[in-house]
Amino acid sequence: MRLLLVEDDRLLAESLQTDLERQGFAVDLAGNGVDAEFMGDQEPYDVVILDLGLPQRSGLEVLGNWRQKKNRVPVLILTARDAWHERVDGFKAGADDYLGKPFHIEELVVRLQALVRRSHDMPGQMLQSGGLELDEERQQVSLPGGESVSLTGTEFRLLRYFMLHPGSILSKTRLTEHVYEQDFDRDSNLIEVYVARLRDKLGKERIITRRGQGYIFMVEGR
Ligand code: CA
Repeated sequence: MRLLLVEDDRLLAESLQTDLERQGFAVDLAGNGVDAEFMGDQEPYDVVILDLGLPQRSGLEVLGNWRQKKNRVPVLILTARDAWHERVDGFKAGADDYLGKPFHIEELVVRLQALVRRSHDMPGQMLQSGGLELDEERQQVSLPGGESVSLTGTEFRLLRYFMLHPGSILSKTRLTEHVYEQDFDRDSNLIEVYVARLRDKLGKERIITRRGQGYIFMVEGR
C-alpha cells in the first residue's frame, strides 16, 4: 500500500522509510509542505504520515487544504508537538489519528494498519476478506482450511490490496500504483507475474481476470 511520509527531519524520515518498507508499505518521502500537498493531490496514497512543523507550508495547512479539496486519505499526525491544543487543532483540520514523538515503530505500524482497515470499513484486529486472514506482521495468509502460507514482500503487498478491495475490478495500472513507490521503475506486466504466483498459492479461482479491464479478488460464495 502506498504511503506518503511527510517529515523534514531527513534522518528520521530515512530510518522510518526503511522500517515501513520492511512492513510492506511503498513509501514516498516529502520534506516540505508544498511538495507534500502536491504529492497528496497527485498520487493515490492509501495513508499519510504527516509532521506538523514543516518548511514552506505547515502540516495543518496541508491537511486543511486536502480536506477542502475532498481528499479523504487517512492521515496520521506524527509530531513532537504534543500539547493537547495542537492535537485538537490537528483533529479539527481533519486528522484521523495522532502519535507524539518519540514513539515506537511497532505502535506506528499497528496504528497505520488499523487506519487503513477502518478506511475500508474493515474493523477488527486482522485483515479478513474472502475467507482469507492476512497476518500483516508475519506477512503470511491463512486459508479457509487453516493452512498458513507465507508470502514474499511483493506478494504480500499485492494480496493486501486485493483483500482491501474484494469484488472490485482492479486494473494493472491501479495495482501497480498501490504496490510500488513513485520512484520504482514500474512495469505493470510484473503484476501479471505476481498474480500468477498468488494463484499458485491461494488457488486459481481466487483472482479472476477480466480481459482488458483487470483482476477481481473473489469473495467466498460468489
Ligand atoms: Ca518537523
